[in-house]
Amino acid sequence: MKIVSIDIGGTNTKYGVFDFSDEMRILTSGYFKTPKKIEIMFDLLSQSLTGYNFSMVAVGVPGVYNKVLDKIVYAPNLHLLEHINIKQNFEDYFNCEVIIENDGNMATFGEYFFIEKEKIKNFVMITLGTGVGGGVIYNGDILGGNTTITELGHITINFNGRKCGCGKTGCFEAYCGMKGINETYMEVSGVTNSKVDEIFKRCQSKDSLAKISIELFSYHLASGLSSIANIFSPEKIKIGGGVSFYQNCFFKKTVKYFSKMIFPAFKNSVTLEISELKNNAGLYGGAAFCIKKLSNH
Ligand SMILES: [Zn+2]
Repeated sequence: MKIVSIDIGGTNTKYGVFDFSDEMRILTSGYFKTPKKIEIMFDLLSQSLTGYNFSMVAVGVPGVYNKVLDKIVYAPNLHLLEHINIKQNFEDYFNCEVIIENDGNMATFGEYFFIEKEKIKNFVMITLGTGVGGGVIYNGDILGGNTTITELGHITINFNGRKCGCGKTGCFEAYCGMKGINETYMEVSGVTNSKVDEIFKRCQSKDSLAKISIELFSYHLASGLSSIANIFSPEKIKIGGGVSFYQNCFFKKTVKYFSKMIFPAFKNSVTLEISELKNNAGLYGGAAFCIKKLSNH
């Protein structure tokens, strides 16, 4: 039995084919630049996925998905996906059952299901990429219902702060998404149009302006994470997404600020860690949602 998991991001779309027949394993995976039209996405998928017969498909989307209406009602980083019947489109194309989930929920469920399930019951994951996403596991299952239940990237960490892509002011994402990290570096150095990868590499080579920017990023990150910890009181919060590859630059600093910012009574009950599945957590999450669905059938 084969399923395909598709993770539509603001920049790239990833896919992974999983085989459940024996022990679950990934048969093939890849990515392409997220196109501007759904028809082009299907063209690109068919180039990569010919010859497979899928029993189920899981799709992670960067926005608020309403399961009753089958609509992404809000996608701050990818407006083109809004207001189309996405599940219907994918079901027509693949001719099988399709699960649509918010991408942050998908990554969270993947990391929980494959890495943490046997150890803990309450868990939060934050994904740092083009945007900031995440999800909450409460009592062993993903917190959610007919619509995306949390938008952790859009909690306010600075009410006098920057404008966010969502239209609000001072969101977590406006400081800890890739654009936000760039903006901090621009404020510190005056250099415009830097790439986040370059900023982290400069930080690794002890460039003082990059180091100040990443210190500020660690502070912003701890601020968002501590508020989330105060609300959900999870046993563990993991940091995933593309930015997590630069953990050597920011993780220790983030833990230091986090322990000062969190509600004192929770200080010793929450641990911070970097995601093990990193950028593939979403793909594994799609597989995990399929396993969950198939076991309920
Ligand atoms: Zn926002």
